[in-house]
Amino acid sequence: MKKIIILGSTGSIGTQALDIVRANPQKYQVVGLAAGKSVDIIENQVREFGIKYVALFDENAARDLKARLSDTDTVVLSGADGVCELASLECDMVLNAIVGIAGLRPTLAAIDAGHTIALANKETLVTGGEIVNRKLKEKGVTLLPVDSEHSAIFQSLQGAPKGSLKKILLTASGGPFFGKTRDELENVTVKDALNHPNWSMGAKITIDSASLMNKGLEVIEAVHLFGVPASKIEVLVHRQSILHSAVELSDGAVIGQLGTPDMKLPIQYALTYPERDMCFEGLDLFKVGTLTFQKPDTDTFRLLPLCIEAINRGGLYPTAINGANEESVKLFLDGKIKFLQIAELNEKAMNMCQNKDNFTVEDIFAADQEARRIVREAI
Ligand code: NDP
Repeated sequence: MKKIIILGSTGSIGTQALDIVRANPQKYQVVGLAAGKSVDIIENQVREFGIKYVALFDENAARDLKARLSDTDTVVLSGADGVCELASLECDMVLNAIVGIAGLRPTLAAIDAGHTIALANKETLVTGGEIVNRKLKEKGVTLLPVDSEHSAIFQSLQGAPKGSLKKILLTASGGPFFGKTRDELENVTVKDALNHPNWSMGAKITIDSASLMNKGLEVIEAVHLFGVPASKIEVLVHRQSILHSAVELSDGAVIGQLGTPDMKLPIQYALTYPERDMCFEGLDLFKVGTLTFQKPDTDTFRLLPLCIEAINRGGLYPTAINGANEESVKLFLDGKIKFLQIAELNEKAMNMCQNKDNFTVEDIFAADQEARRIVREAI
């Protein structure tokens, strides 16, 4: 029995992880769950899986949950500290599927507790990559990627000799706005942006996929996960989302991982690594027929090159563009700004970032807050 804690259990990744647990009750025991404020969903999860510890970030929601669970012996924790406390409880693995920079502190808490981490929360590495890597080394903790592209890269590197990685080929679906010009993007709606052609995901990452910010965040994530500079990461638009990413090794061999676009596969691989387990829908290459690869349109989708610029500048720049993006995506989803303003606001906040070289976790959160303030004041 693998004892796991799932952070962000009410979201897209979290619920799919629980589907895997539900299908394999003899293999996994969920010992803790955390989310933001979705009381109804998490109450059902607690009851279904007989969870002992649960945490909600939102204090009011936590109070409500506590009252609802008064007939059980479940312990309800609350606030950011409660989520971190939950991430430190005894277990074999923590799956972090929280959305946004809110996932950073729980990741650090889990590492401090010595837990293996399955990481979906890419914002952890985008903002705190250097600190996380230092801590992983110090504590001898393993971090396994869940993001499908990074899982594909990780899988492709199994058995590759150390130092043989020449280049990462990071694939992108291109999202719902592939092929559109700036003029055509001028008046796109939230509904248009949420209409992803291949993947079903949470709202924030779906908007990030439409703007290619997601691919920019993934370049930064890959830099920290695989220890290569951004110049060794090539982004390829691959509309079919069948090749989930690949690596080019020193002898020119290209090794990639293919599969149907289903997040359950990378989630499960992180849970079972290095073993392989239950089979999902196999890949019928005859049905797929053709795989295509194109260069991204970085003039129209400015956020991809801006993220690359952020990681090349280093320091707090990735945090600034990430924080600005979290704020501008929220404003876009609330109907307060247009789609193209997301990139404009993110660029402005990144350029106004007060960088620091040897930064702390507190500096990261200060830079995040400052970027969000700049975005709010600019509209
Ligand atoms: P969702 O929006 O579907 O879910 C987010 C989860 O985080 C919810 O459970 C939410 O709780 C919880 N949450 C939000 N804020 C807090 C907080 N402050 N403290 C604790 N929990 C919080 O997101 P996704 O599942 O789509 O994505 C999660 C992460 O995984 C993101 O970083 C994303 O980039 C990454 N990812 C997602 C993929 C996907 O297919 N969905 C693919 C690859 C990566 P509540 O419901 O209560 O608000």
